[in-house]
Amino acid sequence: MTRERTLPNFVNGTWSTPSAVEFLPVLNPATGETIARMPLSDGTAVDAAVRAADVAFKSWSRTPVVDRVQFVFKFKFLLEQHLEELARTIVDECGKTRQEALGELRRGIENVEVACGIPSLLQGYNNEEIAAGIDEHLFRQPLGVVAAITPFNFPAMIPLWFLSYAIACGNSIILKPSEQTPMACGRLFELLAETGLPKGVAQLVHGGKETVEALVDHPLVQAVSLVGSTETARAVYRRATALGKRAQCNGGAKNPVIILPDADMKLATQSVADSTFGCAGQRCLGTSLAITVGEARRPFTEAISAAASERRVGYGGDEGVQMGPVISRKSQARIEKLIAAGIREGGVARVEGRGRKASGLANGSFVFPTVLDNVAPQGEIARTEIFGPVLGLIAVDSLEEAIELVNNARYGNMACLFTSSGAAARTFRHDVAAGNIGINVKDAAPMAFFSFGGTKESFFGDLHPQGRHAVEFYTQTKVVIEHWPRR
Ligand code: NAD
Repeated sequence: MTRERTLPNFVNGTWSTPSAVEFLPVLNPATGETIARMPLSDGTAVDAAVRAADVAFKSWSRTPVVDRVQFVFKFKFLLEQHLEELARTIVDECGKTRQEALGELRRGIENVEVACGIPSLLQGYNNEEIAAGIDEHLFRQPLGVVAAITPFNFPAMIPLWFLSYAIACGNSIILKPSEQTPMACGRLFELLAETGLPKGVAQLVHGGKETVEALVDHPLVQAVSLVGSTETARAVYRRATALGKRAQCNGGAKNPVIILPDADMKLATQSVADSTFGCAGQRCLGTSLAITVGEARRPFTEAISAAASERRVGYGGDEGVQMGPVISRKSQARIEKLIAAGIREGGVARVEGRGRKASGLANGSFVFPTVLDNVAPQGEIARTEIFGPVLGLIAVDSLEEAIELVNNARYGNMACLFTSSGAAARTFRHDVAAGNIGINVKDAAPMAFFSFGGTKESFFGDLHPQGRHAVEFYTQTKVVIEHWPRR
């Protein structure tokens, strides 16, 4: 008999587990222990949620926007109250450190704060007297039932990219979290329910690929947001748009950083170490490739290797731990295979993270920080998303050569430069094909009131998550022309 907690769906204001479906275990990646089990909801469960959302939409969309945002304000308040408890859940299901989990929550809550301002963001525009007695207005109206599908690596922040914008704009939303890290999202919905939000406006449906397909295919679902690997993002984007639906699908990444010889080497090293090894390298904005130009090679290689070796690895809830495990044994094996491929291609392991165990955590899925020098620019390690704590190093002779390498890549999520030259920075930000650009910063992670960029195979769609794009994505425009002749 299993004693783990079974995670329920939240449908039509009620918590319940769908019957006659399979369940998957949710593991703590630091210990390998099963901490819960989640249902793989089927088409029937999805249909019930979508129908409830459709009913809710009819009155929710007519609820004045100033009343709608009161629930979002309450949600923000409850999130702040439950910050530590949410962080603990993220540490246990995702393997992050407490600080990383708190950081993720802070970035997620920023989105809730921005959504509190929807009454202003939702405004349209108008012209009086476009002809005698004729006025023209543009209004924004909600779409209807929308769906969001989220990945394992930000179990709370990425659901918050979608939830509060969608509902504040007047839609009803169904969210399917990652099957690997569904617990924090379940807690978000408990807090959302505490706000008194009308039933059916925001619903949680656990599941996997089939659940997503049932959601995307459902005729009452108008729009789909997804964050995941490029393969998933591409497949879901194609599926949704083939049905004429609006879609925004964020995919994978392979983020490069260029280090020029005139860079502040201490800042560059600290930033790249935090970016590459933060969250065990499982961030879509994590640095994965460092391209040194000319004389930057030696000092940067030495400094980053030292920083990698010093990183303290273990259970993220323990004091002083700087890096936790990767999400699963499967992921660990995939990362280790990629490191081996990099070495076969001529890479030299300055710091080797395979085959090491965190003290007292024999069953955890750990890969320690790894630095691979002399990476082949066209090889597998330089081109494949590793999604683990692995930094590849490539040395080139000029900024132009470095930019060419960056622009030849299939992904375009983020690129950063470290330099003290304004001219080099300006060339870089203009010429580089990536959606989020950083100059002398750890990550180019946009604040919630800016949209989250992403180009090439890192993003499929037109309107990105966060900020103004989120409001545009969750609304359709209507133009009204009125003629009221003067009497
Ligand atoms: P994933 O693609 O395996 O899963 C993401 C979500 O899609 C999950 O909810 C999953 O159940 C669902 N899914 C998986 N395969 C599917 C399929 N074939 N059809 C329909 N749905 C499917 O991704 P993951 O491993 O959970 O997350 C890591 C990936 O997400 C990395 O590639 C990372 O770069 C990417 N990511 C991107 C961003 C971004 O903003 N671009 C942000 C975070 C993570």
